[in-house]
Amino acid sequence: MSLLDVREYGNPILRGKCLPVEKVNDAVRVLIDDMAETMYKCKAIGISASQVGVKERVVIVGAGEKLIALVNPEIHSCGAAAKEIAPEGCLSIPDIQVDVGRAVKIVVEGLSRKGEPVKLTLEGLEARAIQHEIDHLNGILIIDYLSFVKRQLIKKQLARIARLCKAEQSTRIDSR
Ligand SMILES: [Zn+2]
Repeated sequence: MSLLDVREYGNPILRGKCLPVEKVNDAVRVLIDDMAETMYKCKAIGISASQVGVKERVVIVGAGEKLIALVNPEIHSCGAAAKEIAPEGCLSIPDIQVDVGRAVKIVVEGLSRKGEPVKLTLEGLEARAIQHEIDHLNGILIIDYLSFVKRQLIKKQLARIARLCKAEQSTRIDSR
């Protein structure tokens, strides 16, 4: 297993849409294991493939007792579910927290690490984390939930993160 570089705000991959995984093969399993290791190392409770530079629909959540790894995750129902607003942080946008309203309870479907179909009913922090990570697969970030006025307030902070990210990109030799 190896640690992966976490891409930060300003990196265009975070704004792109990830593509469905066609087959859960060994390469996908290695990606899942590396993402999990990276997430634990960063003391995060979730991570998406786009955050480690891979444009595939894979998410990991470690907010409960068990590690959840889902390939091609789809939120199946959260229709009438109650929403709750709570602060969220993001590995890709350091030092910024945003209040985000999320469904309290969801049903999510996808493929397991073995490539088998799974259907999970999740609540609370696990449900919140999955919704956050699936947003990443669609190029959506927590700052998109900010009102115009609040976004103006953190504009400088965001510009600083994006500048650091650009400087890093230009000095890094990176194959992905
Ligand atoms: Zn995030």
